[in-house]
Amino acid sequence: MDYQTVRAVDPDVADALDAEVDRQRETLSMIASENHVSEAVLNAQGSVLTNKYAEGYPDKRYYAGCENADAVEELAIERAKELWGAEHVNVQPHSGSQANMAVYFAVLQPGDKILSLDLTHGGHLSHGHPANFAGKFYEVEQYEVDAETGRIDYDEVQELAEQFDPDMVVSGYSAYPREVEWDQIQAAADAADAYHMADIAHITGLVAAGVHPSPVGIADFVTGSTHKTIRAGRGGIVMTDEEFADDVDSAVFPGAQGGPLMHNIAGKAVGFGEALQPEFTEYAEQVVANAKAIGDRLQEHGFGLVSGGTDTHLVLVDLRESHPDVSGGDAEAALEAVGIVLNANTVPGETRSAFDPSGIRIGTPALTARGFDEEAMETVADLIARVVDNVEDEAVLAEVAAEVDSLTDAHPLYE
Ligand SMILES: *Cc1c(COP(=O)(O)O)cnc(C)c1O
Repeated sequence: MDYQTVRAVDPDVADALDAEVDRQRETLSMIASENHVSEAVLNAQGSVLTNKYAEGYPDKRYYAGCENADAVEELAIERAKELWGAEHVNVQPHSGSQANMAVYFAVLQPGDKILSLDLTHGGHLSHGHPANFAGKFYEVEQYEVDAETGRIDYDEVQELAEQFDPDMVVSGYSAYPREVEWDQIQAAADAADAYHMADIAHITGLVAAGVHPSPVGIADFVTGSTHKTIRAGRGGIVMTDEEFADDVDSAVFPGAQGGPLMHNIAGKAVGFGEALQPEFTEYAEQVVANAKAIGDRLQEHGFGLVSGGTDTHLVLVDLRESHPDVSGGDAEAALEAVGIVLNANTVPGETRSAFDPSGIRIGTPALTARGFDEEAMETVADLIARVVDNVEDEAVLAEVAAEVDSLTDAHPLYE
């Protein structure tokens, strides 16, 4: 893979693109929200549809010449319906955050009340953080995970719903390693006569493959990002029932956005088509098996995991007991230096700061896309442990970097 056409007119940008191909090939991408999409998805996303304005929806556009845009968007919608079993799907949100914005705009008024998980406990900015539009437009109350178990305390959610009387309860998380019990959140929403939005951004692929329970048919709205575990074109999606179909569609366009990013929608259509193949179920099962393998091995090395393990594509390591002198930021930097790319993350009951927290979040979707199995993941866990045990030992870091090289060589990317 190279960018010769770009290079011919713009060597500066081509340099950065080629360097990024090398970076992705030569490092282990373990950021839980990232993935490596197929070359077909890349190709569709880089297509001529970027030129097309298609404001509106298939067969109801505000511009001429939309027949091919219609075909692509209809394919994306039909495939999404098949993947997740939703009655109505909108594939136009530019991102997962805008999918959430559209749902809020569809049924809430400014000043209405949202109950959601705290960001430092695994929630997302768009669930009501003060720095985000959701925190500015709405009154927000937050629940936390249980300090002991690291799991959602559904009784607390229910109690808060009764006390705070929210208009919307939000479930679905960015750094939560356990299965979500959607019906328990639904019960809390019912207690307050509130809407329930389940944001499956991280676990879209796991839900589509049936390796994580689905909120479709339980929550009023299901939103997601399309570039995380589902491995499709970059962007967002909203799923709902016929009842809310028109409200959601008009909240996406013209409520929150102008013209859809039709090239990204082409990437969504191609990725969703790939996810309908039987191999995708195997992929999603392997993603979870790999997360368990890495979690188990890290525990053998003495690391503490939030909630004691994982049911999903990620593990959240709490370094405080095993490595009190190593912050998440120290670990992230040392690991990046050897070619293992992940992120420092807050943990429940955080005692450092959001900028240099006490944990690291480790995800398996991208490495699984490269063909890593449990055995390879155990090797990766051994390397992570060696680095975190020796963050300042240049000799050890150099040895690990060489081992990362042999792992990336054994698992080629975009050949
Ligand atoms: C990633 C994520 C989003 C949306 O992210 P975008 O970067 O806007 O696509 C929304 N909700 C959760 C829980 C997420 O993890």
